[in-house]
Amino acid sequence: MPAGGPRSDDAPPVTAYVAIGANLGDAQVAVQQAMQALGQLPLSRVARRSSLYRTAPLVSNLTGAETGPDYINAVVALETALTAPELLQQLQALEQAAGRERPYPDAPRTLDLDLLLYGQARIDSPRLTVPHPRMGQRAFVLVPLAEIAPALVSAAQLDAVADQAVTRLEPGAP
Ligand code: AMP
Repeated sequence: MPAGGPRSDDAPPVTAYVAIGANLGDAQVAVQQAMQALGQLPLSRVARRSSLYRTAPLVSNLTGAETGPDYINAVVALETALTAPELLQQLQALEQAAGRERPYPDAPRTLDLDLLLYGQARIDSPRLTVPHPRMGQRAFVLVPLAEIAPALVSAAQLDAVADQAVTRLEPGAP
């Protein structure tokens, strides 16, 4: 499993899990557009997509304040022949294209894309840590991930974040 180096053209695709979050503007639309955009990345296709979830913003460790309106969150499974650094670069380009600005740490964001898992890879580089180091602390990641990949999330992990409110949105609900 190549963690960061070049993949050969005939390498089988890796299943990567990407967390999507938005809490500015029409966040549901932003998340749905991000799902579509992920499916259009080179050498990639969306294999599974979770429901959309609404979550209250976490209180910032940095400022002690809640950081804006509710978030809309989702997770997709992406089959990709991109390397993990290539995929991160593509995710960051999508964030930029969505107009993300970071005026201060933990500021609300139009679109946040995190690479949760890249196959079985463990990556610890200055720009990329996989599995994502904070995924185990976040119900808004674990709950949608468990929906599309139940084998990847244990009951104990879900129990550990059970105090965080996460509401699954019915398709088409406001
Ligand atoms: P954030 O503000 O949480 O979106 O963090 C963005 C920064 O985290 C970027 O500088 C990335 O290079 C870095 N980063 C490290 N690991 C990851 C990961 N697994 N997914 C997304 N960004 C990551």
